[in-house]
Formats: sequence, C-alpha cells, structure tokens
Amino acid sequence: MTQARKRKMATRAVQEATGLRYTAALRVEAASRTAIGQPVPLSALLAECATQPEADVDWGEDVFTEYVPEVFESALLGGAVPYVSVLALAGALSAYGPRAEVRVESLEPLWRAVVASGRRRFRIGILCGSVDELCRAPGCPEMPVMNGIIEYCEGHLATCNAHVLVGMARHVGIDVSTDGGDDLERRGGSPEAEILILAASARGAFAEVRDAFVHSAFMNPSDIDELYMGETAAIDMRHAIEREEMRLLGLARAEYQRIRKAAGTCRACPQDLTYRHVDLQVPPDYYTAECTPSAPSNPAPDPWENAEKCPF
Ligand SMILES: [Zn+2]
Ligand SMILES: [Zn+2]
Ligand SMILES: [Zn+2]
Repeated sequence: MTQARKRKMATRAVQEATGLRYTAALRVEAASRTAIGQPVPLSALLAECATQPEADVDWGEDVFTEYVPEVFESALLGGAVPYVSVLALAGALSAYGPRAEVRVESLEPLWRAVVASGRRRFRIGILCGSVDELCRAPGCPEMPVMNGIIEYCEGHLATCNAHVLVGMARHVGIDVSTDGGDDLERRGGSPEAEILILAASARGAFAEVRDAFVHSAFMNPSDIDELYMGETAAIDMRHAIEREEMRLLGLARAEYQRIRKAAGTCRACPQDLTYRHVDLQVPPDYYTAECTPSAPSNPAPDPWENAEKCPF
C-alpha cells in the first residue's frame, strides 16, 4: 500500500470518528503526524530533500498531474512537499546559515503549507512548488507590502507601533535612494512610503515616520548647509525634500480626516471628533493623547542622527 493510500484510509477513519468534511479531516490527520510548531533544523530538511525518493502521490481527479512538481514524503514537515520548494526555502533563508530552524505553522496536505523561521513566514504551494514570503503576523495569509522591506500586509501594518514603522520607513528610504540615484525626482512618489505614511497617520506617528523616510531617501535637511554640495545641488535637494514632504503631509491629512470621520466620536470618551483640530501626532480616532490606550508613541532613539525636529 502506498503512503498516499495509507493516508487516505487514516483520513477516512478521522472523518468517521469526527464527522468532519474530508478536507478538514485531512488537516486533522496531517496534524496528528506532524509536530506542528516543533522546530526542525533546515539542514535536516535539506538532508531529507537530498535523500528521499520521489513519492508516488494520488493528487486526486481535479489535478493535471503533468504540471505538478516532483515531491517527496517529508517526515519532518508531515507530508508530501516539492523538492523545489525546500530548495527555494533554503535559498530564502540562506543568510541565516544551515543552523536556521523552520517550524510548520499549518499544513493542508497536497495543497499548501505555511512554515516559519524566526519571525519570517513562508507559504509553500505544494501543487505548484512555489514559495512565497508572507506577512510576519502569525496566522496571516496575506503577502507583505514589500518583500524584505515592509514585512507586513497592509492590514497588519496598521497595528505596528511607531518604532516598527520608523524602521521600515528607513528601509524604504534607503531603497528609493538607491533606485533613484542622482535623480532626486525619482526618489519621491514612492507608493511604499505612501502606505507607511497612512499607517503612521492612523497611529499618530506621522512626524517620526516621515522623517525616517525623508532623511534616508534624501538627507536630513538640517545637514544641507553643513555639507559642501554646491548652491544648485543644495537648492535642488531642498526642493526635492519639500516636495516629498508636502506630498506625504497631504496623504497623512487625508487619511487622518477619513479615519476621524469614520470614527465620529473618541474611542475612549464621548467627545465628538468633528471639530477637533488636526493633530497628526495623536491617533485620529482619539480626542486627545490622554485618551489613547498607551502613552503617545515613543520611538527608540535613532542611531543615525540626533533626535532633532524636522525643520519642515
Ligand atoms: Zn498580515
Ligand atoms: Zn477621548
Ligand atoms: Zn524632514
């Protein structure tokens, strides 16, 4: 009897015992075999990948078997997994070396699995041999906004604290500054910066996120006069920064108004938010900083510069 047949019978048994639908029973059966959440050394998974023979899998009737990848039965992950997926996963985790560990977050046999390593999470498409990095929030099925830079989906980005947003804003800034090169115009207008600014606006953390982005995408404007860069270059830099800061401010204000309008009254007290003046350093759905559940966001000191106020 093949592995697949044994599995089918075990699944049927689960189904009879529990009354679950077949797909749900498959999951229960897989979970009983996999040590879900148990750390597995990446090296052990690679050894398995290099030594296990190709598995003869019953993919079911709806699958064009000529397109499915070659798979092996992974005792470590608890089911059939494509060779290419394990290799791609190892590639994605290569920076951590062979001592990296992975753990299975979920497994839907012959369909997909989510594995995590540290805070990073990957979805393995078993049917197509794909590996996609997922949002870092455990259990989230969404992709990150920007792989390796904005590591959360848009929804979870809104729940990140100011410190995390500042870190990501700095990365996006470095990224656009590298891509844009000498063309200052091209460093502005980044849609990723836009997404971060909206999240920052919702958190009441606009100024620190804007500064983190602008200072790494362009430079800290207070450094312009100290740096010898020629009058024209200095003016160009100042204008490029102003333009981008105006753009970000417009986005933040619009998001602020949108959230405030949707909220109507303060989340903590009966105060009407309609007539409150715009204060981008207070979450728009609270009347004052005192109403917010935690004290106003307190970003960690920036190692790159003194904590000075942006002059714009
Ligand atoms: Zn998410
Ligand atoms: Zn309030
Ligand atoms: Zn600034």
